[in-house]
Amino acid sequence: MSFTVAIDGPAASGKGTISRAVAAHFGLGHLDTGLLYRAVGKRMLDGEAPAEAAATLTADHLADPDSLRGPDVAQAASKVAAIPEVRAALVDFQRAYARRAGGAVLDGRDIGTVICPNAEAKLFVTASPEVRAGRRHAELLERGLETTYEAVLADVQERDARDAGRSAAPMAMADDAVLIDTSTLSIEEAVAAAIAAVEARRRR
Ligand code: C5P
Repeated sequence: MSFTVAIDGPAASGKGTISRAVAAHFGLGHLDTGLLYRAVGKRMLDGEAPAEAAATLTADHLADPDSLRGPDVAQAASKVAAIPEVRAALVDFQRAYARRAGGAVLDGRDIGTVICPNAEAKLFVTASPEVRAGRRHAELLERGLETTYEAVLADVQERDARDAGRSAAPMAMADDAVLIDTSTLSIEEAVAAAIAAVEARRRR
């Protein structure tokens, strides 16, 4: 039986942490779809045409996720993600993963609206831009990347605007998604809220 959990939301909202925890709790697979766009963005920075890079993406390009986590790649990802051909080339892979036996959690921007509109459970995880920038800043410093809070806040706001404003599959909350604002929640509280929301949908 397949069971799909769609988790969308803006950068650094906590959706990655929540997605991993939900997947572990329910024994589901987890696909961070941002990595697909990051891998295409990285190849664009390396000189390839984005549509071609998306059409020829393989698991090898995702093998070193840490090399895809930096702010330059994030900005490139958000640029290639606005190109309809890039998005179209990545749809089948995401839908196949969503229907894998045993169930799956997919996190991204358009999972509940475009990729898996029939997902059994949908969450939209958000937080204020300042809280998200603070978290991402701490995370980047921990990984040894030198950057300022102001630079991270500008990156977060720029990506939010581009991701929500593009015409191809913009970031949006599905009508039937449960909203979780993590601004004032601890990780444990946010994860508990997400698990409760998914549990409620499972029992339907
Ligand atoms: O989630 P993450 O920050 O890694 O995503 C990087 C970029 O990839 C986002 O800013 C967004 O432009 C794009 N993306 C998307 N649709 C998804 C996942 C990510 O457009 N489902």
